[in-house]
Amino acid sequence: MFRCPCGCGTVISLSLQRIHKPSWTVEKSKYGRPSLYPSVWQNKGCCSHFWIKDGRVHWCSNSGIEPWVADPKHYADPRIV
Ligand SMILES: [Zn+2]
Repeated sequence: MFRCPCGCGTVISLSLQRIHKPSWTVEKSKYGRPSLYPSVWQNKGCCSHFWIKDGRVHWCSNSGIEPWVADPKHYADPRIV
């Protein structure tokens, strides 16, 4: 768990257990800094979309846009069931 890097204050909790979907993988670089796969995309609130690579946050150009608006081929609107 960590706080959203955009500063909105949302605590993001990600599952690292493969039985959960979605789940993420954390790797430690040779400097001991974490990298996270795949990217994180908040589907509510700030809709931050970023990668964590070698301990740094890399923002995606579509950050702030709902996933299903920015990339409807890969994300379904969760409000539509
Ligand atoms: Zn945020």
